[in-house]
Amino acid sequence: MIKIPYEQVLDKIKSNSELGTEDIEAKIKQKMDQLSGLISKEGAAHIIANELGVQLYDQFSGRLQIKNILPGLRDVEVLGKITQKYEVKEFKVGERAGKMGSFVIGDETGTIRAVMWGDIAEKLNELKKDDVVKITAAYSRENNGYKELHMNERSELEINPDGETVEVKIVEEKQERKKINELKQGDNVEVLGTIVDMFDPKFFEMCSECNKRAKNEGKCELHPESPITYSYVLNAFLDDGTDNIRIVMFKEQVEAFLSQNNEGMLKIKENPESFSEMKQNLLGSIVKLGGKAVNNQMFDRLEFIANKVDLTPDPKEEIKKMEENAI
Ligand SMILES: [Zn+2]
Repeated sequence: MIKIPYEQVLDKIKSNSELGTEDIEAKIKQKMDQLSGLISKEGAAHIIANELGVQLYDQFSGRLQIKNILPGLRDVEVLGKITQKYEVKEFKVGERAGKMGSFVIGDETGTIRAVMWGDIAEKLNELKKDDVVKITAAYSRENNGYKELHMNERSELEINPDGETVEVKIVEEKQERKKINELKQGDNVEVLGTIVDMFDPKFFEMCSECNKRAKNEGKCELHPESPITYSYVLNAFLDDGTDNIRIVMFKEQVEAFLSQNNEGMLKIKENPESFSEMKQNLLGSIVKLGGKAVNNQMFDRLEFIANKVDLTPDPKEEIKKMEENAI
C-alpha cells in the first residue's frame, strides 16, 4: 500500500466530499470500531475514502514534485538539482556483492535522498553538485522515517536534460511540538521532557573506507586493511508527564547529548565507569529533542530517533510555546 500520511488522506477526503473534519474522523472511528481494532487509523481512512469514491492516488502518475513523493511508489519521475553527492560504495551481503551510490536532489518543494543500486551507481562519477537530473522509473521507500528514491537497472538518469531548469528551495523542516502521548509513526516533531532513564552507550566498529559496520571480526569484508573507526548509539527514556518514550541517538546526537567529542567518546569506551557520573548528571534534566517517531517493528513499539539535541531549552520560550499550544 502506498503510505499516504493520515492528515493527507483526511485533507483529500475533505476537499472531495461535503464532509467536515469531524464527520470524517467520526466515520473513521466508526470503521475502526467496526473492525474491532484490526485496522490502523490510516487503513480505516483509506477505506472511508474508497467508500466515498474519493480518488487518493490521482497525482501519482507522471512527474512528481519532491514533496509529493510518498513511500511505496513504483514508477516515479522527478526532476531535481543535486545538492549533495556521496561516494560510490561497494557492499557485500552473503554471496551477493554490488555497488551503491547516493546523492541528494532538491526542487522548489524540498529535498530527497536518491540511492542507485547496481551498474547505474557508476553514473555517480559523472555527476556534479548543481547538475540537474531527470530520474525516471525509480521507486520510493521509507528508511528510518525518511523518504528515499531508489533506482535500479530499470531506472534511467539523464544529466542536464535540454531546456530543464530547477529552482531549489531548501525547506527547513519545521518541527512542531508534540506531547509524547500524541506521537504517531512518522511524526517529525519536537518533544520536551525529563530524562528518566538511560543505558550505557553501545560502540560499533566501522570501516573508515566505506563507513559501514565492520562485521567480519572487527574488519570490513571489503576493506580488511582499512583502519576501524567507532560509531555509537545511546538509548534513553524521556518522560513529559503524558507518557514516556525510548529515545534513540546516534553518533552526532550522542556527542551532543553527552557534551563529548569523538575523542571523549572513545575514553568512555575504554573506561565505561566514567559514564556513570555523566549519567547521574543527565538523569532528571529537562531536554528538548527534535526527531522522528518511528515504529520499531521488532519490538512493536514507538521510538523517537533524535536528530536535534538541546540540553538547555530556554524556559521563557518553552512557556510561550505551551501557551500557544493551549489556544
Ligand atoms: Zn569497508
